[in-house]
Amino acid sequence: MVIIKKPSQRSLYFQYVFLIALTIISSVISFAFFLSLFDITLFKSNRQIFFENEYVNPTKDRTLFYDFNYENKTRENGAIVVLVRNEELSSLMSSMRQFEDRFNKKFQYPYVFLNDKEFTKEFIESTKAMTNAETKYGLIPVEMWSYPSWINQTEALYARKKMEEDKVIYGGSESYRHMCRFNSGFFFRHPLIEQYDYYWRLEPGVEFMCDIDYDVFKFIKKNNITYGFTIALMEVKETIPTLWDTVKEFTKEYPEYMNKNSAMKFISNTGKNYNMCHFWSNFEIGDLNFWRSEKYIKFFEFLDKAGGFFYERWGDAPVHTIALALFLEKNQIHFFNDISYRHDPFEHCPIEKDVHEGGKCHCNPEKTFDLHGFLFTILVFTLIKRHC
Ligand code: GDP
Ligand code: MN
Repeated sequence: MVIIKKPSQRSLYFQYVFLIALTIISSVISFAFFLSLFDITLFKSNRQIFFENEYVNPTKDRTLFYDFNYENKTRENGAIVVLVRNEELSSLMSSMRQFEDRFNKKFQYPYVFLNDKEFTKEFIESTKAMTNAETKYGLIPVEMWSYPSWINQTEALYARKKMEEDKVIYGGSESYRHMCRFNSGFFFRHPLIEQYDYYWRLEPGVEFMCDIDYDVFKFIKKNNITYGFTIALMEVKETIPTLWDTVKEFTKEYPEYMNKNSAMKFISNTGKNYNMCHFWSNFEIGDLNFWRSEKYIKFFEFLDKAGGFFYERWGDAPVHTIALALFLEKNQIHFFNDISYRHDPFEHCPIEKDVHEGGKCHCNPEKTFDLHGFLFTILVFTLIKRHC
């Protein structure tokens, strides 16, 4: 006689739980796959996916560290580049104070201050007093901060009005557009910058919350790094409606410039759409010669001709990022995890205990911008956090 054992209540319960769990897991996986078709990553941030393996830890290389015998002659050919307005003096002083204390007091890299107007006597005296390093002050030539001949200024004005009405950030500002275009295509060719190979971009009102005990310029030179960032986030898409189409036109015209091992996936899964990820360019450490290279100049000129710096509001951050992602080897882009940095409203603070303590950091790791994957972002911080 065959006895069919009736499943107990308990095992039925487990079967249900198992089935439900399986359904949830498989739907999440399919959802993740579905989102990836639209260049959206779940769980891990884009930055984590693309730059984790490339990570070189500078704090492991003692030869890069400051020692008391450090002499001027061992410094690299680098400069701190600051585009700034006279009115921003006091917030610049606070940036410089932290920058000096955390880094430059030791290495004394020169500062180059740039402005579209003459710097005031007060500005020059106050910034000189803040550092023992050399300071230089440059006026930006008009042709680097004005409309190119092919731009229709009435159309540009109309575009600004429209963007202002649509409440796009800096949408109505003319000077912001000149600033973005200058940072995209000209700062590295400014007469005071021409002599340098490396730069660190500094802005008023930013903070550095951990010690940087090694020479960052030596580090990037030794490791053949072209560009370093601390924060990656998403661009406001209303500011770049036609940027990606223009980039696609460029890549069609100059396929020979594209790098086979590039970080293209950081900005687009399929190449069809731009996922809006960019390195936040108010912090940049990099090799100026990349911006001066033929391919980048061609790229910038192509974009400039298209007019989006004025008819839209293309930022230097997406422009830089897209160029880096097209032309460089992936491992030439470095995530500076150990450099804690704040530019309102976001900050990067290292979460690893050893990095935090090693750098005597005064930031809160829980506030760091780059911890969570996209799922977390959509669920919790949809409106505030837009990180990559
Ligand atoms: P945000 O970081 O995008 O909010 O823009 P900011 O207002 O901080 O501008 C970016 C950088 O360009 C900062 O270093 C500013 O000091 C500088 N900047 C912006 N507009 C001007 C300008 O009209 N003249 C000068 N000299 N510097 C500017
Ligand atoms: Mn800023």
